[in-house]
Amino acid sequence: MKALCWHGKNDIRYDTVPDPSIEDSRDAIVKVSSCAICGSDLHLYDHFIPGMEHGDIMGHEFMGEVVEVGADTKRLKVGDRVVVPFTIVCGECEQCRRGNFSVCERSNRNRELGDKAFGHATAGLFGYTHLTGGYAGGQAEYVRVPFADTTHVKVPDSLSDEQVLFLGDIFPTGWQAVVQCDVQPTDTVAIWGAGPVGQFCVRSAVLLGARQVVCIDRVPERLSMAAAGGAITIDFDEESVLERLKELTHGKGPEKCIDAVGLEAHATRSLDSMYDRAKQAVMLETDRPHVLREMIYVCRPAGVLSVPGVYGGLVDKLPFGALMNKGLTLRTGQTHVRRWTDDLLRRIEEGQIDPSFVITHTVGLEQGPDMYRVFRDKLDNCIKVVLKP
Ligand SMILES: [Zn+2]
Ligand SMILES: [Zn+2]
Repeated sequence: MKALCWHGKNDIRYDTVPDPSIEDSRDAIVKVSSCAICGSDLHLYDHFIPGMEHGDIMGHEFMGEVVEVGADTKRLKVGDRVVVPFTIVCGECEQCRRGNFSVCERSNRNRELGDKAFGHATAGLFGYTHLTGGYAGGQAEYVRVPFADTTHVKVPDSLSDEQVLFLGDIFPTGWQAVVQCDVQPTDTVAIWGAGPVGQFCVRSAVLLGARQVVCIDRVPERLSMAAAGGAITIDFDEESVLERLKELTHGKGPEKCIDAVGLEAHATRSLDSMYDRAKQAVMLETDRPHVLREMIYVCRPAGVLSVPGVYGGLVDKLPFGALMNKGLTLRTGQTHVRRWTDDLLRRIEEGQIDPSFVITHTVGLEQGPDMYRVFRDKLDNCIKVVLKP
């Protein structure tokens, strides 16, 4: 079959690889009808996250039709149409039973690596480094889905691929980031980053009834999409984020702050971002936490910081004194996708939101290598890419 494979920094190739097969009786094989490139794939493309090997199949946002099931797969049958969450979940361990699916204790088959890196391994993830299990991803014609009974979301034929595909990652990711803020009707929610996850944070904060939603970025087409979704926008290249947020909140600061940027913050003008870039270049720091620092500084005391943005390793100069003295709550985490998908699928069916708004490019899988670059460099007004194998 054909698949997009990782071969090093800035090197994704459209390769011919062996078809996947059932390796465990709880597997299923899905024929991929649509997949997407996620912002966190770019961290692998730019090689900020370790643990990738030559030939690893990329992709953790995909859907399709079940074409084969293992003997112990009971709830899925051949012909079912499914979206596959990026977190692989056993459905049985203590964390899965509590709904903490992204820290499933059984699905990461390289637990020792994860334990060493983070203290405790996280769940297995599709197409995302050997620290998270080294599972083949879904930017391919076919994909093997482990623990298939629990690692899937069945979707009705009445909805298009484009409407449901993002249930596998960016929609629940944006949603969880906002739910973790416990939004009150009096709240200002400030969102750093108007990429795909930031866009879903904006829509989710509006749906959950925030008084005011503010979105911070510097890419005009991203800012206009956020504005179309109901956000007040701030272009950080044009104006001071701190001043504008102060003005919008009568000097008090936003109650809720969301970092939808993560480790590759692109701020270039502030002193701290120059420091990060210099330290990262000589491998003394892995991540660039400019957004985290700004959020801690600007957030109203007793507010909440929510971090859906991906971080990989260590950050420097985090103002922990301010975090503590202001009594801020910090909430983080990879997305517990299955915790949210029943509710979100219902909202799509009811027409409360149509997630396809975020798609700017739809191309064949063979154009994937080019699209990684187009998406990373934000060329051609690209916000979200869907690939068709
Ligand atoms: Zn993702
Ligand atoms: Zn589990």
